[in-house]
Amino acid sequence: MNFEDPILQHASRIVAHDETNAFDAVVPPIVQTSLFTFSTYEEMVATYRGEISRPVYTRGLNPTVRAFEEMLAKLEGGEDALGFASGMAAISSTVLSFVKPGDRIVAVRHIYPDAFRLFGTLLARMNVDVVYVDGCDEDAVRKALPGAKLFYMESPTSWVMEAHDIGALAALARQYGVISVIDNSWATPIFQKPLSLGVDLVLHSASKYLGGHSDVVAGVLAGSKDLVGRVRAEAYPYLGGKLSPFDAWLLLRGMRTLPVRMKAHEASAFEIAKRLQNHVQVEQVCHPAICDTLPAGLAGTSGLFSFIFKEGVDVSAFCNALQYFKLGVSWGGHESLVVPAEVVLQQKAQPNSAQTFGISPRSVRLHVGLEGTEALWGDLESAIRAAKN
Ligand SMILES: *Cc1c(COP(=O)(O)O)cnc(C)c1O
Repeated sequence: MNFEDPILQHASRIVAHDETNAFDAVVPPIVQTSLFTFSTYEEMVATYRGEISRPVYTRGLNPTVRAFEEMLAKLEGGEDALGFASGMAAISSTVLSFVKPGDRIVAVRHIYPDAFRLFGTLLARMNVDVVYVDGCDEDAVRKALPGAKLFYMESPTSWVMEAHDIGALAALARQYGVISVIDNSWATPIFQKPLSLGVDLVLHSASKYLGGHSDVVAGVLAGSKDLVGRVRAEAYPYLGGKLSPFDAWLLLRGMRTLPVRMKAHEASAFEIAKRLQNHVQVEQVCHPAICDTLPAGLAGTSGLFSFIFKEGVDVSAFCNALQYFKLGVSWGGHESLVVPAEVVLQQKAQPNSAQTFGISPRSVRLHVGLEGTEALWGDLESAIRAAKN
């Protein structure tokens, strides 16, 4: 790994040190408390009047959660950030902060399936219309945007890894006065900084790479003080999907190694993607850098990609033969995972985005973990051999 790499240097400086921790601790304490007491009546009044800012109740403000928010805001280059109990809490609270009945959202296709379901169920019931566009087709986006309230992006997407020119799409949104938001879970701020490309808000499932150890479910939103403040004012306290102090502490711990982990996931996954591309049983590899050039705005690639088997490979035999790659959803942790599309296509939860957007039943998604490229490649090769009819 090249530690002189500017991406690695910049991010590593941000995650290495906190400004001030209680007791001069190198790691911030977990402030595991529901409420904070006031030493005097006067202090309480001044707090309620907004003359001083200090924690009152953990659903509103907690020092450990704040430390995580500040680190993430710095990594994304945002003025402010807001932590949530899950990525879906970040998505639902953000979207609900900017739409009302009768409004329209434009979304790129292939977004995270539960975001797709939120739009197709709760938002539909609220009479909020969601129109899906191909994010690679700038003309289609330009036609869809006028009159919309929100432009919801995800790039690269987390099954077919469709990567969009988000700088160009954000400029279109700005031109039509539409607030833009992107799910940046796949690339993380190490490889993509949407705010610097002109996107208004960036959100994450922190359960993935930010946490990085598959031991926390959390979400986060970052952007300008004004826009994040609008989410903080209503949706955050009243919907109540707040981040817990312990989970915030786990996220801070995970983010210390985010830059080096991302570099390791990138190197291993890209090598495996290229070898799969040349494998006789593989029809197509969906990885944003498979053509050896990175899409605009992306400075690197993560460990999640998919590929499509040729006919004649038994996907269930392949999955059962794998040793390192465990069958499991989610991704972004230390461990390698596999998800077959033919299983996802049987999911009862509706609407099902895999069906709606025509994902091939012969496609398989891999998360390449940190076990080492050659061990993982050996695992894949022998499992493919075992699965050949
Ligand atoms: C997992 C995921 C989410 C949802 O996050 P949770 O933390 O599970 O609520 C959102 N977007 C993407 C791309 C995801 O992979």
